[in-house]
Amino acid sequence: MDNTPHSEVLQTRCCIAGGGPAGLLLGFLLARAGVDVLVLEKHADFLRDFRGDTIHPSTLEVMHELGLLPEFLRRPHQELPRLTARIGDEQVTIADFSHLPTVCKFLAFMPQWDFLDFLVEQARSYATFHLRMQAEVTGLLRRDDRVTGVEAKTDRGALRVEAELVVGADGRSSVVRQLAGLEIVDLGAPMDALWMRLSRGPGDPSQSFGRIASGQILALIDRGDYWQVAYVIPKGRFEEIRERGLPALQQALVALAPFFADRVSELADWSDVKLLTVKVDHLKRWYRPGLLCIGDAAHAMSPIGGVGINLAIQDAVAAANILSSPLRNGAPAETDLAAVQRRRELPTRLTQRAQVFMQNRVIRRVLSSPGQIGSLPLILRLLQRSPLLQRIPAYLVGVGVRPEHVRSPARIGA
Ligand SMILES: Cc1cc2nc3c(=O)[nH]c(=O)nc-3n(C[C@H](O)[C@H](O)[C@H](O)COP(=O)(O)OP(=O)(O)OC[C@H]3O[C@@H](n4cnc5c(N)ncnc54)[C@H](O)[C@@H]3O)c2cc1C
Repeated sequence: MDNTPHSEVLQTRCCIAGGGPAGLLLGFLLARAGVDVLVLEKHADFLRDFRGDTIHPSTLEVMHELGLLPEFLRRPHQELPRLTARIGDEQVTIADFSHLPTVCKFLAFMPQWDFLDFLVEQARSYATFHLRMQAEVTGLLRRDDRVTGVEAKTDRGALRVEAELVVGADGRSSVVRQLAGLEIVDLGAPMDALWMRLSRGPGDPSQSFGRIASGQILALIDRGDYWQVAYVIPKGRFEEIRERGLPALQQALVALAPFFADRVSELADWSDVKLLTVKVDHLKRWYRPGLLCIGDAAHAMSPIGGVGINLAIQDAVAAANILSSPLRNGAPAETDLAAVQRRRELPTRLTQRAQVFMQNRVIRRVLSSPGQIGSLPLILRLLQRSPLLQRIPAYLVGVGVRPEHVRSPARIGA
């Protein structure tokens, strides 16, 4: 029994912890279906650097189904019809999206804060959508075995929200899943990533690309006036890299991308280098009575393929399709929550398996072979020989297993 005095108490049908892609899209779709929903986001805004920015054809398809695609594509973004990488001396196409059976046959790079602002703007047209920024979920309310709401810390004091359903969409370090005691299966990852930004110059390559060389992997994302740079390192080696000093890291970047020579000093100290500890995990069970986890909170994805946002979006669509009708009538049953996990578990597991395969067959091999990269890994050699084969990773990454489709509010629950 919690005896803390609460300055504010709210009631809603569905309380979503976390205003990331999963939480905001679910909030939008539930509100569109007439369900009263409150999203709690711990930050004051969405302006955080280095988050998933790859909007895949599957997510663009969702925008299309919602009738929002033209407006969405008016936001600043870059379009990438192909994923390429330079491996040793060879230019390799990893995925060709131009043949996908989707409206958009490209991957769009859009800063995640623009994407989230867009979702909020759309969601606000529904009176049943509510968003509280600077509201950090810190506890769960329970009655017997059932979760009945959350406790949160806000800029205005303590908040207590009573809800028929709590959704944990609070990301890869989810507090909700931890408070609910949901068991995590950790699949492991051989790498971490360092994220940095360096300005773009007039003679630079014209679009995003990857570079794989002796023992090192670099990914460069074109952000208009700057490059978002990911430098992949063997797991747990960040301290060692720091001890070698910033000039050593700067030299490594220049060796992989020589055009950085005139501006690598923009990395003035280690606060310009952000560590992403790569995790690949999933929950054994995504729900408890009164509570469901989706997105990274249910399954943290490897950065391979940049699928994290897109799977989070797919989870939100599936959850809205399955739960809108029960939520309109009251509290969803445990079987409804189980149906969401059943629907999304296969795509998640298969994608994680493919990522773990690539981690072990390509990433681990590259990172553990300093001095030479030798021949291309077999899988990449096969991809180069057959443009037809390039359509397989394009489909897996761009559309994914069992793509979800937005239902019109009238059809939800039909
Ligand atoms: C550095 C980096 C680079 C990435 N690059 C890519 C990429 O290129 N492509 C890609 O697809 N994916 C990428 N990802 C992964 C991608 O960002 C995530 O998979 C995706 O954002 C998951 O969406 P989500 O809504 O489940 O969780 P998140 O985006 O993590 O959103 C969770 C939200 O919950 C909020 N929150 C957390 N705790 C609480 C709390 N207690 N109370 C209230 N709010 C809370 C957070 O502030 C956050 O806004 C990257 C991730 C990182 C960290």
